[in-house]
Parts: sequence; structure tokens; C-alpha cells
Amino acid sequence: MSDKENKRKCFKCGSSPAEDGIKLFRALKPGTNNLVRCEQWAQYMYPGRNVSSVEFLKKIYNEHRMLCSKHFQEEDFTDLTRKYLLRTAVPRDIEQHVPIFVASQPGTSGVHSQVLTNITNQPAHGTIEQQELGQPGPSRSTNEACIEAGSRKPKTKKEQILQSKCMKYLQKICVLQKRVQALSAQTMLNAIADDNNVKKLSAKVTPAFALFLQGQIRNCNRKLRGRRWSREEKITALRIFKRSPTCYRLLRRLFTLPSPGTLKNLLSKIPFTVGCNEAVFKIMQKFVKSQKTTDNEYILMFDEMSLKKHLNYDCKSDLIEGFQDHGNQGRSENIAGYALVFMVGGIRKRVKQPIAHYFSSSFVTADRLAILIKEVMNIFIL
Ligand SMILES: [Zn+2]
Repeated sequence: MSDKENKRKCFKCGSSPAEDGIKLFRALKPGTNNLVRCEQWAQYMYPGRNVSSVEFLKKIYNEHRMLCSKHFQEEDFTDLTRKYLLRTAVPRDIEQHVPIFVASQPGTSGVHSQVLTNITNQPAHGTIEQQELGQPGPSRSTNEACIEAGSRKPKTKKEQILQSKCMKYLQKICVLQKRVQALSAQTMLNAIADDNNVKKLSAKVTPAFALFLQGQIRNCNRKLRGRRWSREEKITALRIFKRSPTCYRLLRRLFTLPSPGTLKNLLSKIPFTVGCNEAVFKIMQKFVKSQKTTDNEYILMFDEMSLKKHLNYDCKSDLIEGFQDHGNQGRSENIAGYALVFMVGGIRKRVKQPIAHYFSSSFVTADRLAILIKEVMNIFIL
């Protein structure tokens, strides 16, 4: 049997998820807060052994030692499906599990003895098994385990209630500890971003670069999914991305920048329906007010371009895109092959801005074009 297959079995009783329909749980990774629990797991796996060294605990974790759900009690699971363990779960023996250790004596049949012989026959797999379970028959450690399991008294009702209360509180502590960690990390980063030196530096550079710098400091050491960007930072990044996606990819390799997915997400929040775009029109109104009256001379242009025919289901709007769509004039069942775009261009100044678009199946007819031009012109009059 290969090592890999062995590892997929319960370390204690040898049950495998495929045969016995149980779930396996990996030994805990020793950290700063869970050492006591790690030791309890290790003690259960290697009874009678000194498990206080962190190296040993790490070794158990790195070797992917697993325990099956049989070694946990009902209250250790999150629910009755017995799929997920609570953070506080510690393996314990139930009365029927005691014979496991006795079964290693020759002559007893069943899965457990088979498993033990499997382990003993294993060619130099791990040193731990050889030390603890290597000798046939009940070894020192198995004897001790029997005594330990036998001496445990059944719990009284009061004890059970107290234990469940303890578990609940331990869980609460876990949640609160995580929250404290997150908060302290947050305040530290804010302190750096609000640092006086950074502020002094910000006064000497352009606002866009100051924004960029703050984003760098805040997100540089974070994992990809942990980075957070303000809306201004995202908009600045989007401006570069829209100018040249290739250049943006290069910049992302050099600096910490939002992912293209984040930017596309930001863009998808702006409604961009067929027909006249009122949001764009409102921005144009603001722009016109900021210009000199002599510069405010514009023309309305329109042009049609050919499109590749393609249908696409948009789950957000529950709509199949790709059919002929003339906005207020309605959609038809013909697949769109052309896009008609209306654009405003400055005469005295070099400004241009698309304001409306439509999809048609063939070249738009003169009658329909007249209606659409009137529709676009109507916004300017309103
Ligand atoms: Zn097991």
C-alpha cells in the first residue's frame, strides 16, 4: 500500500472515507493560541508520549495525520451532519472505542487488527509508528491508553451542561480574538497611511501620485485578496487601464495596483443601456458650464460600424443581449450586426463624447434614422 493511501485513513482506527463513509479531520497546525488543543490532539494520537514540543506537533501536522469523525462527540460538531468540527473540538474516546487497543492482540478479527498489521508491516514509513506501534501485541502505549480510557467516568448531567457552556465561551473567545487581530492590523496600517512624513511628502507631489503612494503603503504587504482600494484609487487605475491594458499589466508587475477584475466590477456599476445615456449627458452639462461661451460650439455626429454577431445572456438584467435594439423604438428578434453611435464633437475645442448607441440587424433605414436623430436631439432641447 502506498504512503499516500495510508495517509487518507484515520490514524487511530484506520477507517477510510471511501469504505466507512466517515469524514477525516487533519491534525491541527500549531499556532500561538491553540497549543493546548494541539497537545490534546497529539496526546490522543500518541498516548503516553511526551507531546509538549512544538516540533513534534508540527511534525504531526506536516505528515497529514488524520482522525476520523468517530473520535469526536456530538457536541464537537457544528451540526448534526457531523461534517465540520468546532474550533474547540478535541478528540475523545467513546466507550465502544476502547476495544480498538485490545484488538491488536493476535487472534482478534476485524478492521482494527487489520489496520494495525498494516501499520506494522509498513516499510520504514515514519519513525513514530515504529516507536509507538511497531511491536506486535499490546505495547506500553496501548496499555496505557486502555487504562486511561477505562478510568474515565461517565459525565453527570451537570458536567455535560458545564462542558457545553465552556465550549460556547471558547468559541466566543476565538471569534473575539480574530476581531481584535483584524482591528489592530487596521489601525496600524491607518497610522502608516496617516503618518506625518507621508503627509509632508504628499504636499510635494501631485494629488494623483499622493493617492497612488498611499495605496501602495496600505496594500503592499497584503495578500492579493486582502487588498483594499478607495474609490478614487480605483478610478485613477481605471483611467490607465482604459488607455492601455498592456501598459497596465506591466505597471501591475512593478507596483501594487487593483486587478483588472476589480476595475471591470467598478465599471459594471455604471448603467450603460441602449439609447441616450443620461448620466453622460449630465456630466456634459457640467462640462459645458465650465467652458467659455465662445468655445461652446458642438456638432452631433453619427456613424455605423459592423459587429460580429453574438448572443450573450446578462444575468444581472435577465436579458439576452445581441438582438436588434433601438432603445425606445423597441427590440426585434433579428440578431444585431451593426452598431449606430451618436457622438458630440467640439468645433473650437478638441473634445468628443459618445452619447447614444443602438444595435441594428442591418444598415439602419432612413425612416428609423430620422426618428433616432430626433430622439437624441430631444435631450439637448430638454
Ligand atoms: Zn478513526
